[in-house]
Amino acid sequence: MKVPMLDLSEQYQGLRSEVLEVLDQVMSSSQFILGSNVKKLEQDVAKFSNVAHGIGCGNGSDAIHIALQALEIGPGDEVITTAFTFFATGGAIVRAGATPVYVDIDPVTFNIDPAKVEEAITEKTKAILPVHLYGQMADMEKLAEIAKKHNLAIVEDAAQAIGAKQNGKSVGEMGSAATYSFFPTKNLGAYGDGGMIVTNDDQVAEKCSVIRVHGSKPKYYHHVLGYNSRLDELQAAVLNVKFPHLVEWSELRRQKAENYTHLLNERLGDSVVTPVEKEGNYHVFHQYTIRVEKRDELQQYLKEQGVATMIYYPLPLHVQPVFQNLGYKEGDLPITEKAAKEALSLPMFPELKTEQQEYVVAKIAEFYGK
Ligand SMILES: *Cc1c(COP(=O)(O)O)cnc(C)c1O
Repeated sequence: MKVPMLDLSEQYQGLRSEVLEVLDQVMSSSQFILGSNVKKLEQDVAKFSNVAHGIGCGNGSDAIHIALQALEIGPGDEVITTAFTFFATGGAIVRAGATPVYVDIDPVTFNIDPAKVEEAITEKTKAILPVHLYGQMADMEKLAEIAKKHNLAIVEDAAQAIGAKQNGKSVGEMGSAATYSFFPTKNLGAYGDGGMIVTNDDQVAEKCSVIRVHGSKPKYYHHVLGYNSRLDELQAAVLNVKFPHLVEWSELRRQKAENYTHLLNERLGDSVVTPVEKEGNYHVFHQYTIRVEKRDELQQYLKEQGVATMIYYPLPLHVQPVFQNLGYKEGDLPITEKAAKEALSLPMFPELKTEQQEYVVAKIAEFYGK
C-alpha cells in the first residue's frame, strides 16, 4: 500500500465542474485583480473569523509582513515569537525591519510558551507573534493578557489554523490581526499562492489594503511604502468554491486524528506521544504530529514501506544560518530543539482512508517491534 502525506486529487475531482466553471467566468469577465471574487472571499473569511475585515494578499508570508507594517512595527522594534515554525514567520519580521526574539515552546502543544514571552519583554518589545502550529491555537488568553499589560500588539500566524477556536473565540478575535495562507497544501488551499489578513481594527485594515497596492491612495499617490501583494481573482474564485466545505473538512481531519490516536495508543502505548488538544481548543489538525524516539530511522523505515511522512521542522529558526547574526546558539531553546529531533507528521487530509491509517499505524508498530 502507498500512503501519501497529502493527496489533493480526490478533492479536485469532486469540485472539478464547479471550479472549471468559475475559472471560465473570471477569464470571460477579464477582471483578474481585486474584483468581486476577492471581495466575496474577504467578507466570508472575515465573518468566519468573527472579525470586521479581511484583506486578501499574495501569500501567507506577505500577510505577516503587511500586518506588521500596518501596526507600525519596524526598525528598532522587537517581536517575540517562536523558533519552532516555518521560516516565513521569522522572515517576515526581519523583512519588516524589526528584530525577532525567539523564545521556547510548551512541550505538549509545540506552541509558544506565554511564561517565556513575559520573561523576554524589554522596552523595545512592540509585538508578540504566536504561531498556531499544526492547527491548534497558542494560549491566546494568556498572551492577550500579557499584551494588554505591556501594551503590545499581537499578530497571529494562523497559516495552519483557519477554523481553529479557543473557548469559542476564533483565530483573529483576540489578537490585533491574524494571517492566513492559501498555499495549496493548507487546510483551505488555492491552486497557487494566496493569503489574507483578518482584523477587527478599522485603521489596521485600511493600512493593509493600501500597503498591498504599493501604498497607493488615491491611485498614483504614495504616502507609505507598500509593494505588490494581491490575491488574484482566479485564486479567489477557486477558494470561494472550496470555502463552503471548510468546516466539514476540519471535522473530517478531527475524525482522522481521533482514529490515529486511538490506533496508536492501542498498538504502541507509551512508545509514541500522540497530539494533545488542550481543553477549550478546537484543533483543525493541519498536521497530525507525533513524538518518537529514533525518529529519523522510523521515517526511513516508513518510506521503504510506502508511507510518506514529514518533519515540521528539522532546524528551528534561532539556529538557521541566515539568522546567525542574531546571536543564538544551539542549547538556547532546549524544548524547541528536542521537538525538532522527535516530531514526525503523519499523512493527514480529509480524504485519508481508514485502511491507510491502519496501515500507517501497523508499520509504526512493526518498527518498534510491538
Ligand atoms: C505556510 C506557512 C506560512 C507561509 O505561507 P505562504 O502562503 O507559503 O507564504 C507562514 N507561516 C506558517 C506557520 C506556515 O505554515
